[in-house]
Amino acid sequence: MTIPALALHGGCGAPAPEALGVADWEALHRDLAAALHAGHAVLRRGGPALDAVEAAVVVLEDSPHFNAGHGAALCEDGRHELDASIMNGADLAAGAVCTVRRTRNPVRLARAVMERSGCVLLAGDAADAFAQRIGLDSVPNRHFTTPRRVQALAQLKALAQRGGIGRASEAERHGTVGAAALDAEGHLAAATSTGGYNNKPVGRVGDSPIIGAGTYARDGVCAISCTGMGEVFVRHVVAHELAARMRHGGATLEAASRALMEEELAGEDVGMGWVALDASGQVVAPFNTLGMARGWVDAEGRGWIGVHREMSCLGRL
Ligand code: ASP
Repeated sequence: MTIPALALHGGCGAPAPEALGVADWEALHRDLAAALHAGHAVLRRGGPALDAVEAAVVVLEDSPHFNAGHGAALCEDGRHELDASIMNGADLAAGAVCTVRRTRNPVRLARAVMERSGCVLLAGDAADAFAQRIGLDSVPNRHFTTPRRVQALAQLKALAQRGGIGRASEAERHGTVGAAALDAEGHLAAATSTGGYNNKPVGRVGDSPIIGAGTYARDGVCAISCTGMGEVFVRHVVAHELAARMRHGGATLEAASRALMEEELAGEDVGMGWVALDASGQVVAPFNTLGMARGWVDAEGRGWIGVHREMSCLGRL
């Protein structure tokens, strides 16, 4: 029997400490902890890694503090288009959705695509219609909107008009949520969900629903969920690259992850991060931005969460 492990993230576009008030920081930490609890509860009762990553991501999608589901980034037309994926390391089964507009929890839909559609990736209206047909919660697009995202979109549009979009901070633009888990049977799984980035073109699809780019899991190797400028993750096939360095190159998770960020992606000059774990439950959660909301459960069963450099211990979960 394996000791289960879980790691999750709420995106590499974390706001600066002074950008949010105390109440908002508390609420964000509370939701991060709730997601960790939800995923870990599945693993503790012997449930599958796939259920654990889905449970954790659903909590983060329903939280207004992260860029996925409720609280997602807005496209340039002021509406939301959401992307998500999930992958089962045991058999490489995978499901994903992109540019969905009405499905409350895109990660649930990604799972349904994997298990019930015969496809790996469903897009747009057809994906929303599939969700409705199988009884997943449908919501109006405005369900995903929060005042903070409306404000961020207005600021970005003003900045773009002045030709200064390059100066927009990672926090103004980016975010994503995701999780990676190892269950007691030794199976790995990963899931990712995102609104993309603020002011993105309508129809743009990032790395999060692309298996091998933003999400990957393979038993015996690793499970990973990424965050950061999706175009870079697609071009470098980042999630699969991590697995390949371990599987074919014999690198440890730690070494593969470091080489990926510090060598392979170093020239890209974009904010990025990921959470990943290997078949022994070792966790990495690197990021090159000001912060990345993240959490994990250590080998003693203690939960840890943090956004900037320091982590706080939740005690035994
Ligand atoms: N990776 C996401 C995307 O490009 C956004 C992010 O994580 O910041 O859609």
